[in-house]
Amino acid sequence: MQANNKQTYRRRGIGKRQNKNVQEQKQPKDKLNIIQNQTISVVIPMFNEEESLDELSYSLYKVLNEMKSNYEVLFIDDGSTDNSYQKAKEINAKNSRFHCIKLRKNYGKSSALAVGFKNAKGDIIITMDADLQDDPEEIPELVSKINSGYDLVSGWKKVRYDPFIKKHTSKFFNFFASLISGIKLHDFNCGLKAYKKDVIKSVKVYGELHRYIPALAHLSGFKVTEKVVKHKPRKYGVTKFGASRFFKGFFDLLTVLFTTRFIKRPLHLFGTLGLISFFIGTGITIYLSVMKIFYNEYLTNRPLFLVGIMFIILGVQSFSLGLIGEMITRSYYTEEDILIEEIL
Ligand code: UDP
Ligand code: MG
Repeated sequence: MQANNKQTYRRRGIGKRQNKNVQEQKQPKDKLNIIQNQTISVVIPMFNEEESLDELSYSLYKVLNEMKSNYEVLFIDDGSTDNSYQKAKEINAKNSRFHCIKLRKNYGKSSALAVGFKNAKGDIIITMDADLQDDPEEIPELVSKINSGYDLVSGWKKVRYDPFIKKHTSKFFNFFASLISGIKLHDFNCGLKAYKKDVIKSVKVYGELHRYIPALAHLSGFKVTEKVVKHKPRKYGVTKFGASRFFKGFFDLLTVLFTTRFIKRPLHLFGTLGLISFFIGTGITIYLSVMKIFYNEYLTNRPLFLVGIMFIILGVQSFSLGLIGEMITRSYYTEEDILIEEIL
C-alpha cells in the first residue's frame, strides 16, 4: 500500500516543487521512539484552505511514509465555500489514506476537531492546521514523545509568526489557562498536538474549547507535556478567526473553570462568593447602625445603606445557589464517574 502511494504521487507529480521545504530532523531518527505497528491518525480541520492542501498533503505523505507506520489523514472540511473539498477529493483519488469528512456548514474548529476525533481510528492522533503554519516534520518527534509515556503532547510555538495583537493576547490567555488548570503550558492554542487515543475519546470539545484541551485532559488525570515546534507565517489565505476569538476564548476559559474545578463542589465557589458579599453587607450595616444609635445620623439619605442591604441579599442568594448546585451534583455524580485506568 505504501509503495503504491509513493507511485501514485510520483505518477501524478504532486508537490515536486515542495521538496525544498523539507527540514532537518532535530533528533536523530534512529533515536526516536516510533512503534511500527501503531496507527497514526492526522486530523486537520480546514475552512477555505484550498491553496494549501496539495503542499500540505505532499509533506504529510513524505513524513508519514518515512516513519513506516500505518497512517490515515482526515481532513475535516468545516463548511468551506471554496474548492477545499474538491481538492481533498482529488488527493483521496491519488492516495486512499487521505480522507475528507465534509460538514454541512461552518461549525467552527472545535466541532471539526470533535468530528475528526470521533472518526479517527489511530492509536495516536495528531492534530494540525491546514494552512501550512504547522510543520508535518514535527510529527515523528511528537509521536516519539507520546511513546515515551505521555498522553498528550502540546506544541509550543516558541517563535511564532502571528499578528502582534494575537501574540500578546495569547500570552494573557496562556497565563490564565495555566493558573486555572494547574498545568504550566506556554501555548495552549497550538494547532499541532499529539494525543493517545484514550484522551480524545474522553475529552469533549465544543464551542471554542479546542484551546483548552490540554487543560481538560490534565484535569481528567492525563499526563500532559509540551514540545517546542516550528511555526511558519500563513502562506495563503487569511486567518479564520476575527476579534470575537478573544471574547469566545475568555468565555470558554470560564467554562473550563466551572466544568472542571467547581462542577462537583459548587458550594465552594458560590458559598465563598456569598459569604464575602454577606460579610461586606453586614459590615456596612453595622457601621451605619452604630452611626445611627450613637451619633444619631439619618440612614434614609445615605446610599451606603442600600449598598449594604444589596450586598447582604446578594450574599444570601449566591450561597443558596451554591446549596442548590450541591444538591443537583449529589444526585448526578456517583462513584461511577471516577475514571479508572486499569483493573487487574
Ligand atoms: N478552521 C476551521 N474552522 C473554522 C476556523 C478555522 O476548521 O471555523 C481551521 C482553519 O482552516 C485552519 C485552522 O482551523 O486549518 C486554524 O485556523 P487559522 O489558521 O485561521 O487560525 P490562526 O492560525 O489564525 O490561529
Ligand atoms: Mg493559522
